Amino acid sequence: MSIETSFKNRLGKNVLFHEPLKNHVAYRVGGPADILVFPQTEEDLAWIGQEARTHAVPLTVIGRGTNLLVTDKGIRGITVSLEKAFKTIELLSEQSDDKVLVRAGGGVSKPELLEWAIQGGFTGLEFSSGVPGTIGGGIFMNAGTKYGCYGDVLTELRLFDFETGAKTFSRSEFHFGYREQTAVKNQLVLWATFELRRGEPTTIRAEVNRIIQERAEKQPLDYPSCGSTFKNPEGFSAGRLIEKAGLKGRTVGGAQISDKHANFILNKGNATAQDILDLIQIAKDAVQSQFGVKLECEVIILGT
Ligand SMILES: Cc1cc2nc3c(=O)[nH]c(=O)nc-3n(C[C@H](O)[C@H](O)[C@H](O)COP(=O)(O)OP(=O)(O)OC[C@H]3O[C@@H](n4cnc5c(N)ncnc54)[C@H](O)[C@@H]3O)c2cc1C
Repeated sequence: MSIETSFKNRLGKNVLFHEPLKNHVAYRVGGPADILVFPQTEEDLAWIGQEARTHAVPLTVIGRGTNLLVTDKGIRGITVSLEKAFKTIELLSEQSDDKVLVRAGGGVSKPELLEWAIQGGFTGLEFSSGVPGTIGGGIFMNAGTKYGCYGDVLTELRLFDFETGAKTFSRSEFHFGYREQTAVKNQLVLWATFELRRGEPTTIRAEVNRIIQERAEKQPLDYPSCGSTFKNPEGFSAGRLIEKAGLKGRTVGGAQISDKHANFILNKGNATAQDILDLIQIAKDAVQSQFGVKLECEVIILGT
């Protein structure tokens, strides 16, 4: 049986073939996934892992695609998206000293978890105000802001390994640093448990609104992007270096280095992934030659 027939028989409407990934990522660019699959259960994941081995095709995991630049040729093999499942939020326990444990599925959206926490009066996730995407992507990237990151509040993690199945780990087993971590490599985040504290919903809401306002003043949020394109090199601001290199507003095709914040590369409407890749290279070359600083991408580039 062909891999396509096999997927269609097992997953029905939860699988798409030759699906343009620009429909599934924040940048709105990127070629097709050979197979884009929306698993509903751990059993689906185990079956997908088995199929990948049987047909010797690669597996790629994506969340909401808010930190992805998918090439114009797209992604070969099987792309697993948590867009449609693993979306449960649970209050696990309330401890005597105001601490609460909250578990969120890998497919839960960060803004949704934050809103849930505000309404429940749980403080600790305010750092994530304005950060899009899923909890799974947030753990993989150790996403965060100057106010904190997911590694700060994480206590437990359940990972699905396509070779060996699911396993639960405690936070202490891993290192979480600036947009990096040692927990998730070729696995998928099924859920994460966070330790939060009891707080006043109105105070939490006010802080979240303040951070969102602060971000809106500095960041160009009117066009598709992936947020910060580069990590800040130690001791420097990537945006400032690109600005000093004279690249604010520089365009290639439909892509532009934002003239509001130079670490954002925008899709102004009809950009290709290659336009964005070209701007990434231009920024890297200019910053290296003018300041001797090597820029490292924060955006993850996927595809052939
Ligand atoms: C406007 C804007 C503002 C942003 N601001 C910030 C910010 O302030 N701070 C910040 O840190 N980031 C920011 N980002 C980047 C992005 O939102 C984060 O990196 C986010 O955590 C990515 O989540 P995602 O679900 O979209 O993951 P994706 O972009 O889909 O994937 C990113 C990586 O995570 C992996 N991944 C995704 N889901 C899983 C899973 N369930 N299990 C295992 N691996 C997985 C993918 O394989 C990929 O390597 C911003 C992006 C935008 C568009």
